[in-house]
Amino acid sequence: MNEDKYSILLVDDDEVDRITVKRALKKAGFPANVMEVNNGQDAIAKLQLMKHHLFDRGGWSGFPTNSVVGYASSPEASPTLISNHGVDVPNNNHASTREETTTNNFNLILLDYLLPDIDGLQLISAIKSLNITIPIIILTGQGDEEIAVEMMKAGAADYLSKGKIEPNNLAKAISNAIRIHKAEAAVELANQRLRASNQLLVLKNQELERQQQQIKLQNIQLQKSYNLKSEFLATTSHELRTPMNAIMGFSQLLLRQYPDPLSEQQQNLVQRIFNNSKSLLEMINEMLDFSKIEAGKLEVNPQQLDLNYLVKITVEELRSLAVQKQLDLITEIQLKDSILIQDSNFIKRVIVNLLSNAIKFTESGKIIVKAWEIDQNQIAISVTDTGIGIAPEDQAKIFEAFRQVDQSFTRQHSGTGLGLAITQSLVTMMGGKISLDSSLGQGTTFTVEIPRKYDV
Ligand code: ADP
Repeated sequence: MNEDKYSILLVDDDEVDRITVKRALKKAGFPANVMEVNNGQDAIAKLQLMKHHLFDRGGWSGFPTNSVVGYASSPEASPTLISNHGVDVPNNNHASTREETTTNNFNLILLDYLLPDIDGLQLISAIKSLNITIPIIILTGQGDEEIAVEMMKAGAADYLSKGKIEPNNLAKAISNAIRIHKAEAAVELANQRLRASNQLLVLKNQELERQQQQIKLQNIQLQKSYNLKSEFLATTSHELRTPMNAIMGFSQLLLRQYPDPLSEQQQNLVQRIFNNSKSLLEMINEMLDFSKIEAGKLEVNPQQLDLNYLVKITVEELRSLAVQKQLDLITEIQLKDSILIQDSNFIKRVIVNLLSNAIKFTESGKIIVKAWEIDQNQIAISVTDTGIGIAPEDQAKIFEAFRQVDQSFTRQHSGTGLGLAITQSLVTMMGGKISLDSSLGQGTTFTVEIPRKYDV
């Protein structure tokens, strides 16, 4: 078919009416190939052929693939288009059997509602059952408007009274019907695409949900093993504490040398048993504290305290360790008002942890413990040493539980790697924060800032 022409199936048993339609089209200069049939059966046969033809060419898309886009998208027919494309009118003495029209892909059906073998309504439903959508204009007799309305309800696009067929209104009705049908087909196509992408979204959502479910299960599993680990930590450290206390108690008894004295070597050995048990007990206590913090079982117990006094006695408790390493241990307290409402056990634990680390990681020089007021509501405590220092890349990770800068088995310094994790938790629980300033080989300063008054 000429690609610029519409293809129209004209179904009418009255030859005179068919000629009228063709003449009107020709007069209007409407670019169309008209295939004529004079009964319903032939019309259905043509449409079946068209359907097969279209499916063979890749499926029915709701609109014939060779439909004329140019004209339909500008339905007001331009004169050039009209003058260039006249109407091909096959010689139609035996219209129903003729095959001169070179296409089977109709853009529109002009349908006489009264046919010898089938009425218009039946024909419309037969076309529908073929599963093809094609605009149908009904040609009615004079005064058959009611029938026309019925036909339109059944799916016809428009109707024209045979008596009123004129070139202009026929061309206009055809091009309007085609244009509307095209728009509907486009909407349907868009809807189909939307449905397809919706389908895809549903599938993706299902997949996401499945993954979420899996992650949930994994999380439950993780939580289980985490709880198991905490329980294990709590139970073992608790169980270890009792025998460790007994070992320390008995070694202290032996060291009293009553009633029997010990030889110097025995004294030495028992002292070592005592010292080692003590540091083991400290580690065990650390593990117990950590498991309590993890389980949320440690609570702040705020009470009035004198920070000046608390810092001094805590430093004194650890002085012997500094003396053993010949380190100067200096306390500098500058507090106008040294009264705080805070947890004294927590503050003491923080100072002990920071100070014992400072002593542990310093071989020579001094350690300074300071306390001062940042402002009315904030207090700072710092511990400065002249020790090995901490490289910048290690500074964040030392606050993680079980993390030590030297994780090797040959490391010089003992410890669980829990001290700073506990310290940070205690400081946070008191409503404060901890920071550090360190350079390798120079020394380290840990600074703790806490509110003077614990805010519940
Ligand atoms: P532990 O002392 O039991 O190893 P901590 O959590 O108290 O555990 O400290 C973690 C790590 O941080 C230490 O192993 C050490 O590498 C580093 N560290 C802590 N304090 C100091 C310090 N004052 N100077 C140098 N390194 C330190």
